[in-house]
Amino acid sequence: MPPGLIFLGAAGSGKGTQAQQLSEHLGLVQLSTGDILRDSIRRQTPLGLEVKKYIETGELVPDETVLGLVKEALQDNSISDKGFILDGFPRTLEQAVGLDTILKQIDLQVSMVIEFQIGLDETIKRIGGRRICSGCNKIYHVEFNPPSNASVCDICSSSLIQRKDDTEEKVRRRFEIYQAETEPLITHYQSLVHSVDATRTPKEIFEKLVSQIEALNGIHQNA
Ligand SMILES: [Zn+2]
Repeated sequence: MPPGLIFLGAAGSGKGTQAQQLSEHLGLVQLSTGDILRDSIRRQTPLGLEVKKYIETGELVPDETVLGLVKEALQDNSISDKGFILDGFPRTLEQAVGLDTILKQIDLQVSMVIEFQIGLDETIKRIGGRRICSGCNKIYHVEFNPPSNASVCDICSSSLIQRKDDTEEKVRRRFEIYQAETEPLITHYQSLVHSVDATRTPKEIFEKLVSQIEALNGIHQNA
């Protein structure tokens, strides 16, 4: 059976970037919920049209719809050859239980759950310091990736702004929700869970994960 990975991590934990680099390096298919939803809308599939309706009315896309889309994505032929990384899904215990059912139906399984651990203070620092260009949307960070001129974009000289969602209060709230939702997931997946310290350098995290994932059955057969 091909390797199946789930990446859990709060916003700002770097999990999306790692998922992308690891899937390229190891030949796994990266499935992020955001991409799956956008793709379904673009292709105007029956589920995609449903998603579009929810998003247009500002409603949350219900679990059954998301699960249906995840199932479609997992049934792609390349997954049974290469394996997958689910990035940002499941978010809740209900979704995880639904995912278990789907995986059984299509003869796949979760082989490892990687939890990117990061504290609230570090999350606030990483996201709270983000600035986005009001002209070209380039993203900066006041500490880690500052523009040459304090409040204007290097590329187009437009002013830099902080997104409304990136304020300390919003970040704190999202972090609390993430923690409350993730705790039951950790219990659900038990021994499959491997934690990584998300404050290590991206290179250290990447190398550690490559060796852990390569140690799983299946990867070497695919290589
Ligand atoms: Zn700009």
